[in-house]
Amino acid sequence: MENGVNGGRGLGRFAPTPSGRMHLGNVFSALIAWLSARSAGAEMLLRIEDLDAVRCSAENARLVRRDLLWLGLDWDCEQPPQSTRTGYYEEVLARLAAAGEIFPCWCTRGDLKNAPNAPHASDGHPIYPGTCRALSAAEREARSKEKPPLWRLHVPDETISFVDGHYGEYRENLARECGDFILRRADGVFAYQLAVTADDIAAGVTEVVRGRDLLSSTPRQLYLYRLLDAPAPRYAHVPLLTAPDGRRLSKRDRDLDLGVLRERFGPQEIIGRLACAAGLLDRPEPCTPRELIPLFAWEKIPLDDTAVEMI
Ligand code: GLU
Repeated sequence: MENGVNGGRGLGRFAPTPSGRMHLGNVFSALIAWLSARSAGAEMLLRIEDLDAVRCSAENARLVRRDLLWLGLDWDCEQPPQSTRTGYYEEVLARLAAAGEIFPCWCTRGDLKNAPNAPHASDGHPIYPGTCRALSAAEREARSKEKPPLWRLHVPDETISFVDGHYGEYRENLARECGDFILRRADGVFAYQLAVTADDIAAGVTEVVRGRDLLSSTPRQLYLYRLLDAPAPRYAHVPLLTAPDGRRLSKRDRDLDLGVLRERFGPQEIIGRLACAAGLLDRPEPCTPRELIPLFAWEKIPLDDTAVEMI
């Protein structure tokens, strides 16, 4: 599937991070991604996003694959896991370096937190004040001898806007609201923003459906598409799933991970309850993903985060 050749049918994707067992929120996004692709006659790609070798494991990746298939969420092709694609990310980074878009940075998190008058983004993270952007070649060489740098992308003072397939127009000024962001960490690990964009380009993904916690990453990714001269996919974000008390689900909620749920429910019961939370069924009746294809419409999916009754 590399080079985006799939007969022009369109390509959606699952991009799970195997840092634990999938929880119900992951399955909710995966179900909607699958239905959006399948109802449009598109194919699905699976990519294991295991950049973080400390948190991810091959065993978790195996369980993610098994759980998706158990639920009836299949895929047509698989991209090699991100942990095996360092050489490719290095090529992409080298292209950006050759175009003068990236710079090495030696600031620590503490430096940024303590920078005087550093503006903060709405999520509270300090916006990079540009400390290392203008270092001379000699200064860079001297600092490199002390410790390896991380690499940041120099972003423009420009508003990137796009129309999300579910939430509508979304805009962000990269310099003012985000700042020069990291593409590669000092320990050599590539950042999510670079890897996800480079991989979606390589696979020819045409539709990205994922949780709305990633909506605010999209302008950064769209800017990378522009620099890499690649056509951007359509993006559609989905509401997050909450527990009945409104609490957002996370991997810490062991009671809602598939290891526990599989002991208590069959796949069709889980899919039925998620389909009900997604507005596709009036009642949480057991069903397969395939049975939901004719019922799927983006207009039925709620905009607000939505609760699921499982416990
Ligand atoms: N790997 C990310 C996650 O599991 C998803 C990345 C994406 O869909 O862009 O949250």
